Amino acid sequence: MNSKAELVLDSQALLGEGPIWDDRRQLLFWVDILAGKLHAFDPARNENQAFDIGQDVGTVVLTESGPKVMLAVYKGFAAYDLETEELSLVVHPEAHLPGNRFNDGKCDPNGRFWAGTMAYSDQKDQGSLYSLDSDLSVHKALDGIAISNGLAWSLDGSLMYYIDSPTHSVATFDFDLDMGAISNRRVTIQVPEEMGTPDGMTIDEQGMLWIALWDGGLVCRWDPENGDLLQTIDLPVSRPTACAFGGRELDTLYITSARTGLTEELLKEQPHAGGLFAIRPGFCGIPTFRFAGQI
Ligand code: CA
Repeated sequence: MNSKAELVLDSQALLGEGPIWDDRRQLLFWVDILAGKLHAFDPARNENQAFDIGQDVGTVVLTESGPKVMLAVYKGFAAYDLETEELSLVVHPEAHLPGNRFNDGKCDPNGRFWAGTMAYSDQKDQGSLYSLDSDLSVHKALDGIAISNGLAWSLDGSLMYYIDSPTHSVATFDFDLDMGAISNRRVTIQVPEEMGTPDGMTIDEQGMLWIALWDGGLVCRWDPENGDLLQTIDLPVSRPTACAFGGRELDTLYITSARTGLTEELLKEQPHAGGLFAIRPGFCGIPTFRFAGQI
């Protein structure tokens, strides 16, 4: 079944990323990494609020702490107060690697904040994957990563799914929910090169994975048990970046996209590149996990 996502916000983002649904505020948070902006989109009012973070911002996650969200910015893990608009750096595990920045990240079912890094140069093997515990200690889980992207956990919390984009695949790890440890890496889904490069990812209530395909103009639903492609959503832009379920019933799939790197010619063909798109694909998501740390 093919279906098409519709533009909901003509945001013209350089590198829109990291959509995440806040069920308490009924807002979709997302970031424009290269513009250094955090965004909050209110679908009921069709309004978007932008927060200037002052440095590249790879991803955003929710917290249990009133007005604050957590970010993974150029200078590491940070808390951001939506009311005072104050950024507080928490810990920077790559202060010695100025050529790297944080990229995609999510919270696991126990409230640890996982986020990975990549080199600005896209040079391979420069990135790592970290987890920030609720006690604000940081742990390196993987190194030798090229472009750290999609993260999701199986519905029972026993598996972690992960995308290092240039591998064109989704890796599955056994996940120790109590310890936050990953082991036994294996390839679960191989994405054919002609479909684009796997980028951001989310999971639905049936445990199936939705993956944005950069330069593929698609978001696809896959079965992580057997690697089967189940459903395809077309976009009017070539660089979708990430997706997340939102809305009161978690039945709307929101999709971010990018303008960066597209030629003038391509931008003329896809004037809404960098926009926020949405579709009701016939499946629902699961509630967003929040960061458990006190910040
Ligand atoms: Ca990404």
